[in-house]
Amino acid sequence: MPDIHPFRRLRLWTLKEAGDQGQILVITCNFCRVTHRYIPDDLVKLCGDITLDRVLTRFKCEGCGKKHYLRMELHFPNGSEYGHLKVRRLTEIRTVTIPIWADDVLH
Ligand SMILES: [Zn+2]
Repeated sequence: MPDIHPFRRLRLWTLKEAGDQGQILVITCNFCRVTHRYIPDDLVKLCGDITLDRVLTRFKCEGCGKKHYLRMELHFPNGSEYGHLKVRRLTEIRTVTIPIWADDVLH
């Protein structure tokens, strides 16, 4: 397993690799002081197998709606955390239909 700190190393490490190692992603909003933990495989379903330095670009805080207070760490759960540690699981991916309008002239 590569050394995951400093942050630039995250460029060399992908979601799938983190998931294969049993690591989880801990994302904290320093503004709201809210932390959520995610399973890498859930994020692969959403974002594909991107490198970890790009994960935060896909997130914004559910509380304040801001991106730039988010911090991410990798966590290697220890045995006693299984069955106890709270994680945020992906339950559904909804595809939203968004209308795109453009002004035109009557033909
Ligand atoms: Zn926030």
